[in-house]
Amino acid sequence: MSLTIYSKALYSTWAYYSPDRILFDCGEGASSQLENKSFAIRRVFLSHGHADHIAGLIGLINIRNNAMGDREKELQIYFPAGNHFISELMTYFSRTNRHLRYHLEWIPMTSGDQVKVLGGRNPRHVEAFPTVHASGETTLGYNILEQRQRLRQEYRDLSQEEIVELIKAGRRDEISESYNQKLLSYGGDSVPLRPGPIHSTEVLLHEATFLADEDRKEYKHSTLDEALQAAQSAGVQRKLICFHISSRYRRDVNRAQRRLNDKGLPFEVVLVPPGELTEIGL
Ligand SMILES: [Zn+2]
Ligand SMILES: [Zn+2]
Repeated sequence: MSLTIYSKALYSTWAYYSPDRILFDCGEGASSQLENKSFAIRRVFLSHGHADHIAGLIGLINIRNNAMGDREKELQIYFPAGNHFISELMTYFSRTNRHLRYHLEWIPMTSGDQVKVLGGRNPRHVEAFPTVHASGETTLGYNILEQRQRLRQEYRDLSQEEIVELIKAGRRDEISESYNQKLLSYGGDSVPLRPGPIHSTEVLLHEATFLADEDRKEYKHSTLDEALQAAQSAGVQRKLICFHISSRYRRDVNRAQRRLNDKGLPFEVVLVPPGELTEIGL
């Protein structure tokens, strides 16, 4: 399981989650850097309509149209409902790409909407949650949820044998309950995410445009300290990935990463170096 991410504040941000073939945002260069993997993408989830998060769509939609062979590769693009910039881009595509060889669908999302991305015993959904970024800009974050089963609270002290007996007696539904585990949460551009919607997520992608608090002039983006605090408040289980780091910190990222490694945090922190294609094992 891995995540391929490219992110440099103001220039371009995109992240490809290969297990579910999901691309989060589509900044400039997404398709040219993903190359063959561009054809594997099933769904794109856009956090908002700023150019550094959507400029790569022209390339992505075009290359999939020019591909040899398979013409059945549908592509669904989910976006925050009512986003002005994205609506304008949709108009551009409808005028310039009337004869796409594959089915392209634009699907507006509002907070709380869910999209099924995997079937089977442990189905997965992507769920939209609210974020706060620039004024007048409709924005969303996204959780990947996996439906799992667990014992109900009152049965958790039973021994393995007792549980097996109850299941044999046909009481599985009575003793177990299903719940949604957040596998990954992607916040897009935002001021610090509120802990509620991302609570107990395994992997959090939180923006950290500013490594130094004093460099932030307007309250539109997060600092590294805020990303760490948001992850701690949310009880992130395994990994915090900080992206959208300003290129002014290109030389500081390694030092900041070492400092974080020594902090003894309850989760691993990965800083995505601005302008470097980064592969992260999950
Ligand atoms: Zn951005
Ligand atoms: Zn933005």
